[in-house]
Amino acid sequence: MLSTSISGFVPFVICCVLLLLTGVQGSPASAPTSASGAPSHKAKASKPQRASSSSSTPASIYPPPDLVPSLDSPEVQQWLQEVDLSQAPNIPSNKGEPPTCGTGWTLNPKSCYTPCQECSADDVVTCPDQDVWGLTFDDGPSKATPALLQFLEKKQLKATFFLIGGNVVQFPELAKKESESGHHLASHTWSHHPLTTLTNQQIVAEMKWTEKAIMDATGHKVRYMRPPYGDVDNRVRFVLKQMGYVVVDWSDTFDTLDWQIPLHHRTRKEAEVGFQASIQKYLARKAAGKPGFISLEHDLADINVDLAQTLITYGANNNLTIRSIADCLHDPNPYAAINYAPGVNGVAVGSIPPSSTPKSDTDGLDLPQYRGKTSSTSSGGLSRFSPRQQHFLGNLFFGSRASAGTADGHNATRFSRWLVAVERISWSGAILVSFVAGLASL
Ligand SMILES: [Zn+2]
Repeated sequence: MLSTSISGFVPFVICCVLLLLTGVQGSPASAPTSASGAPSHKAKASKPQRASSSSSTPASIYPPPDLVPSLDSPEVQQWLQEVDLSQAPNIPSNKGEPPTCGTGWTLNPKSCYTPCQECSADDVVTCPDQDVWGLTFDDGPSKATPALLQFLEKKQLKATFFLIGGNVVQFPELAKKESESGHHLASHTWSHHPLTTLTNQQIVAEMKWTEKAIMDATGHKVRYMRPPYGDVDNRVRFVLKQMGYVVVDWSDTFDTLDWQIPLHHRTRKEAEVGFQASIQKYLARKAAGKPGFISLEHDLADINVDLAQTLITYGANNNLTIRSIADCLHDPNPYAAINYAPGVNGVAVGSIPPSSTPKSDTDGLDLPQYRGKTSSTSSGGLSRFSPRQQHFLGNLFFGSRASAGTADGHNATRFSRWLVAVERISWSGAILVSFVAGLASL
């Protein structure tokens, strides 16, 4: 009797285990879901979150997240015909994920390679007005995003969200919520690969797929972007400008390095104290007319959002004015088009009022003249490198090609996927042992 029961139950148990394990493989669509669980190991309770069924554009028409889109699709072929790349600078692609600034890297004076040459060309790196904090969040949307939106709404603040296209098609309702809440949406590429390692055509594909994803979710055609890792040179800048994009970096000393927290390479307290020290140093400078600053944070994990709430409260208590990038630049046209309908030409933007800031006398100003860089200081064990270089170097340790991790957040995603896998395997093993033990006791 016992052996009959076992022979019946064991296949059932094995099937249960196999069913559980099938989730370990994870589809691309599950990627951001586990991210919020990374720091607190909550991923076990998470279920893969699919693209909203209410989305009018199914995620399946898009390229796979995390991969550089193919150039062979009809969409990309069409986009390539619309972008004139014939005058692109002849600057070779870099190598690495992301490229390094050390051995083997050739200093090309024409490249103005932001991470390694401390050169930002005409990228936006500051807010023009004194005591203004340009608030930005990269790598979303994700499951961590709603809590941030709730907090920002409570504080009546607007931010710029640099969205990963591959995440937008998985959480289109969150991108829409961001837009409807008055936040400024911008591009952070499709797959978060370092753009200087890609061909001109691949850069177009990365940007255009993201542009389409955000348009499909929100109706807005974005015109601001932030390169993953801050990895940009004059070749990449040329391609981006041909598509009408404005490149936004961040102010060096205001990189929160919050992406390191879920990886346990930086404590939340260290990130908090470091950022607050940067604010105090900024406030201590008495120079009249000093520009405001742009921070780098992420809404990819719960702990990042929790830190953001602390830092924002601290900044507000120190009389900083917190704005989105569109608002801090007084840009009346933060989008290239609005109310875009797929299949129909987008509505050209004549004037879109900034989300929260009334127009001022500085509207229409020539932005590049305000684009000085903030003073560069260092912190942490890699003190001989600038914070931007530290940001890069971090990827050398956590962003191998095998894991395709990225400094500003994707490592957390990869890491949490791994945690999900381990936890599911552990639970499966525990269930198997429990069943066998229970049967053996019959
Ligand atoms: Zn990023």
